[in-house]
Amino acid sequence: MAFIRLSRSAFFHNLDIIAHRAGSIDKIALVLKDSAYGHGLLEMAAMAKEYGVSRAVVRSDEEAQRLADYFPYILVLAEIPKTVSSRICYTVNSLETISRFPKGCRVELKVDTGMHRNGISMEELADAFGSAIRAGLKIEGVFTHFRSADALSSEWFWQYKFFDKVKKEAKVLALQYGLDELRFHSKNSAALFRSTSCDEAMVRIGIAAYGCLQMDRTLSQPALKPVLSLWAEKIMSRTLEPSQRVGYNGTYAALKTERVSTYDIGYADGLLRAASNSYVAPDGAALLGRISMDNTEFSSTDEKICIFQDANAYAKAAGTIGYEILVLLSSGIKREVVQ
Ligand SMILES: *Cc1c(COP(=O)(O)O)cnc(C)c1O
Repeated sequence: MAFIRLSRSAFFHNLDIIAHRAGSIDKIALVLKDSAYGHGLLEMAAMAKEYGVSRAVVRSDEEAQRLADYFPYILVLAEIPKTVSSRICYTVNSLETISRFPKGCRVELKVDTGMHRNGISMEELADAFGSAIRAGLKIEGVFTHFRSADALSSEWFWQYKFFDKVKKEAKVLALQYGLDELRFHSKNSAALFRSTSCDEAMVRIGIAAYGCLQMDRTLSQPALKPVLSLWAEKIMSRTLEPSQRVGYNGTYAALKTERVSTYDIGYADGLLRAASNSYVAPDGAALLGRISMDNTEFSSTDEKICIFQDANAYAKAAGTIGYEILVLLSSGIKREVVQ
């Protein structure tokens, strides 16, 4: 059966680089949303804990509850809980939702500084503090998210400057309401590697920890290593005679007598079909014809084949980004942690 290998040494190597850039391990808030970007939630949580990571960021309350024994601090990005949990902080994404949080809930306010996807606007900040305090919520932090930190443009700089203003205003409000010092954070992977210093309380790091950060080619790239590799096993080999065709609709025709094999992986496992006929595996084997639900043909006779070592290489052939390739990998594929 197809399987996934997770490299502990690659993950720890990436965390070393990230901790160095951020200033300390304590500042790393590992983004484990969506099953740790498809890697496997508990597999990655266990390794992160072993490394000494103490903060996690997830999408849902369910993910946070599953991680409660791994991290003393967990931030939920996009769900309003029914009850309060001591280790979990929840994100207030808009003014209107404040009344729906349970009394006593730990919250962080997300502020929109230019992405215009979600978040409270700067003008609404005072209102948000007032409403949250009247609703009995504990405001612990204020954060934002960058829209183009990975691109070579000035956008990142103005958004960062804008967040400085937000911080000033939030500090005044916190003082006014007698709150403890707020936790400010803004940086995702790309932003961390664009900045030369990190004076915020923490950084929210996803893709860089998984070793698949891609920045504009002109920006300097850290030497990260992909953690996840995808493998498949051979079902059978055959010889194709010249002009014999492979797979649905026969989109690949042999030019000469060729040995090819069918491997036990397909789009049911999350392998994007868009890369049909246009991808070469790390060992040099070409993907031949259409990817089908559970089968894919390669110009190889090896018993096992590494489909990809780097999700970004596969993503390029499929016309997308590594993030999408990773999160689409079926949760049913067995994960094994290797050194
Ligand atoms: C997903 C996400 C991140 C992590 O982004 P990467 O580019 O993977 O580092 C950080 N912050 C927020 C709000 C996110 O949604």
